Amino acid sequence: MTAQDTDKLILTLNAGSSSIKFAVYRAADEPAEVLRGLAEKLGGGDGQLHIHRGDDGKRSIPLGAVDHAGAIDHLIAETTREIGAGTIAGVGHRIAHGGTAFDRPTLLTDTTIADLAKLEPLAPLHQPHNLAAIAAARAAFRDVPQIGCFDTAFHRSHPWVNDTFALPRRFYDDGVRRYGFHGLSYDYITGTLPRVAPDIAHGRVVVCHLGNGASMCAIQDGKSVASTMGFSALDGLPMGTRCGQLDPGVILYLLDAKGMTSAEISTLLYKDSGLKGLSGLSNDMRELEASDAPEARQALAYFTFRIRRELGAMAAVLGGIDGLVFCGGIGENSARVRADVCDGMAWLGIALDAQANAANATNIGTGATRVLVIPTDEERVIARAVAAHLH
Ligand code: AMP
Repeated sequence: MTAQDTDKLILTLNAGSSSIKFAVYRAADEPAEVLRGLAEKLGGGDGQLHIHRGDDGKRSIPLGAVDHAGAIDHLIAETTREIGAGTIAGVGHRIAHGGTAFDRPTLLTDTTIADLAKLEPLAPLHQPHNLAAIAAARAAFRDVPQIGCFDTAFHRSHPWVNDTFALPRRFYDDGVRRYGFHGLSYDYITGTLPRVAPDIAHGRVVVCHLGNGASMCAIQDGKSVASTMGFSALDGLPMGTRCGQLDPGVILYLLDAKGMTSAEISTLLYKDSGLKGLSGLSNDMRELEASDAPEARQALAYFTFRIRRELGAMAAVLGGIDGLVFCGGIGENSARVRADVCDGMAWLGIALDAQANAANATNIGTGATRVLVIPTDEERVIARAVAAHLH
């Protein structure tokens, strides 16, 4: 990359169901962060925009009642005020669903955007916001390349048995597949292993991305072979408000015997279940850890039980494991969840150094299997893809 190239700035936009993370990087082979921020509580009456710039501290701006499109307009205006207009040379977008076709970062054109819009029914809570972000950024930065980075792309390497459901074949051909999500996070972790733990970078690794959304990925030689998430971001582990794995018979029962509509079931499974539903208290792990309520303890117990169950399943898929990695807000910060997951896992070569675990250290294992805490960085993965395009 030339010196001129490194004057170019990259904006990344990561639009979730009620928030938008964003960041600005200086273009380079390894992009350098200039600022990052968060627009949160969107869709309610008290939207907030937070911007962190290096050591200059944090600036918070009330947004009031804004939707995603409105928040993006605000964050673009505030960001260009910070860094100067006309300096953004490329924009990268996190896109929840790339279907079967988008298996790598892709230049967004009218044609590719139309193809992504067709995938909206597969990710109804995320894809429309991603497309709104693309439309707003295209309007604000005309003639600037926009690159889509897909949460599903990392998992396109799954073998067929981990890509299909046992439904009649026409459903698979019609796109009813186990796509898997959180791919940008797994991509970041996989890219970090050669530096942090080179001895396992080509080995058998299970990554637990434990945040408000949560999933696990079995990785062999840097490639995804299995994920706990499937067709939608509901499957697998219980999450802050999502149910995780559920017998499909429950849904038939709710429809037929309880007369619930599909909209009511969707709200139940996406917004009222998981840690929030089980505890009746909160979707926030910090609140559950601080609570003495038996329901909070049971919610925590169910969370770690499911992670342990999936860990055993992934070890079987991989034929053993060489490394276990924790990331995401819970994975990076909750010593208790990590300890509960690893308890009694000596049969997998897993043992924890209690002090290192309590300190959220990088290396927390003492057994033959490496156990690591690696802060994930999806924005950086997006910025790298844009930098590669600008190169
Ligand atoms: P994320 O979606 O990756 O931002 O993660 C959000 C989750 O991380 C929430 O459930 C938080 O309660 C949890 N979290 C953040 N910090 C801590 C902490 N120090 N201890 C336990 N959980 C935490």
